[in-house]
Amino acid sequence: MQLNPVFPVNQSLFDQLQQQSCLPDRSAVQQALSAAKPDFADLQALLSPAAAEFLPQMLARATQLKRQRSGRTLALFAPLYLSNLCSNECSYCGFSRSVAMKRRILTIAEAQQEAAAIQALGIGQILLVTGEHQRKAGVDYLLEVTQTLRPQVAKLLLESQPLGIADYQQLRTAGIDAVMLYQETYDPQSYTRHHTFGAKADMAYRLDAPARVAAAGIAQLGMGVLLGLSDWRTDVLLLAQHLRFLQQHWYQLAFTVALPRLKPCAGQISQHSGVSDRDYLQLLCALKIFAPELSLSISTRDSPALRDLLLTSIACTASAGSKTQPGGYAVAPESLAQFSIDDERSPAEIAAMLRRSGIAPVWQDWHPLLGRRAV
Ligand code: SF4
Repeated sequence: MQLNPVFPVNQSLFDQLQQQSCLPDRSAVQQALSAAKPDFADLQALLSPAAAEFLPQMLARATQLKRQRSGRTLALFAPLYLSNLCSNECSYCGFSRSVAMKRRILTIAEAQQEAAAIQALGIGQILLVTGEHQRKAGVDYLLEVTQTLRPQVAKLLLESQPLGIADYQQLRTAGIDAVMLYQETYDPQSYTRHHTFGAKADMAYRLDAPARVAAAGIAQLGMGVLLGLSDWRTDVLLLAQHLRFLQQHWYQLAFTVALPRLKPCAGQISQHSGVSDRDYLQLLCALKIFAPELSLSISTRDSPALRDLLLTSIACTASAGSKTQPGGYAVAPESLAQFSIDDERSPAEIAAMLRRSGIAPVWQDWHPLLGRRAV
């Protein structure tokens, strides 16, 4: 059995970093902004309250770094929700097992129909999303969907329950190009409070999942936390440390980072992240300055005005025209969504906005007729 290196995180580390998170002063921020290779102390400074007044400089620096790496482009993708079945209880999610709602899992034919509807919007990069249901939406189902869609879709990404190395290897062979895994929070107490039932309650297993994806040879890994579950400064700092830890072991991995903010969802009381738009912009810029190689991904959870700013400056990828319910594009558009979305513009409208700002939308960066991209 292959043993993965374990990313070390515990309550006392989280508490210690949280206590330090507000300490940096203006001079620490200025030093971080001029550092050729910012370290963790620089990132801490850029995330601190003292950095708030430097937001215009941070945005300019992060935008410059993004354009040096990826030019004036933005890759568009869309999520394809395969199932809203879930055996977990997460306090912030409309798919939690206790939420009374109509549950469904798409048949293979329905998944094909949904993929075709997304492609008809022009989008060739599809993120397959499931609730976490090992028995009904387990690896056999995911393999069948992947093998069926692979010949027609340029790039397939997966967001499902964490799996084992052998499962990820099979999915890679079948056609999955990238895996998204949200840790939700690195604060053990908050993690336990918000994940009260099911396999997801095992924080250590989830924490180890990105290493299993890397060990399986999948070339692109998406990571993130759900902002608002705990102290956002500390969660983002530990996410960056986790990313560096993985890079030390798998230098060839490409990283995408997505940082959704807590939103109201079906069946749950209204809840908000407490992370303002300014905080959000600050933390995204801080991460990009710290790790210019990572690709920031922006979802339709954010408002059109904020998305316009992010998509034309520091973001590398963004979802567009998203439906967050299984069958939402073509099969059953009336079913309940996982969370509310703010930007309901079509992909064509997003593309037009990008072009007006001199950014080229990338609908797909590979063609399925060419076969699998060499990784
Ligand atoms: S966040 Fe994921 S695991 Fe938790 S209830 Fe929602 S779908 Fe299930």
